[in-house]
Amino acid sequence: MSELRVPLERLQRPEPLRIWNADFDASLLRDGDDPLRVGDVTVTGGKSIRVELILDQVREGVVAAGIVSTTWNGDCSRCLRPVEGIATAEVEELFEEHPREGESYLLHEEFIDLEPMVRDAILLELPVGVVRCVLAEDCADLSPEYLKDMEDEVDSEGSPAADPRWAPLQALIFEEEEDQRDT
Ligand SMILES: [Zn+2]
Repeated sequence: MSELRVPLERLQRPEPLRIWNADFDASLLRDGDDPLRVGDVTVTGGKSIRVELILDQVREGVVAAGIVSTTWNGDCSRCLRPVEGIATAEVEELFEEHPREGESYLLHEEFIDLEPMVRDAILLELPVGVVRCVLAEDCADLSPEYLKDMEDEVDSEGSPAADPRWAPLQALIFEEEEDQRDT
């Protein structure tokens, strides 16, 4: 059972609560689930997701409002170093027995499954396009191990000449090869 399922028993007590707080950490993905991905940015399995919601019982169902956040991983667009960031999404969504496509989520009989809402919300907050590492000063400073990785990538992708981003890299790789030949 997903950790993001919140039992509704508290709504069904003799003196039910109308509002309660869902405040917990959960794992967004179970083993084998596809990671959330936008371009090269992913939220991988095992990442903890922080859920801080107020669940409010209304006539139509239950409204979940608050904040969900998690960490994402990607590669710096310039130096290809790993980059980690935090995606925080504000949500306010209705869960109802008969959900309307794109407008509300399914309210199960005994629980609320927050996972579809959390996935949708986090996906919208992942960075799109250029990601930069925080070490901006030496961001373009390519270490040998990253060069090696990039070299492999260039090799596997065929002609790198077409992409101007690889030009300085090619020069560096060339020098490295020369050194090896001298020794
Ligand atoms: Zn960088």
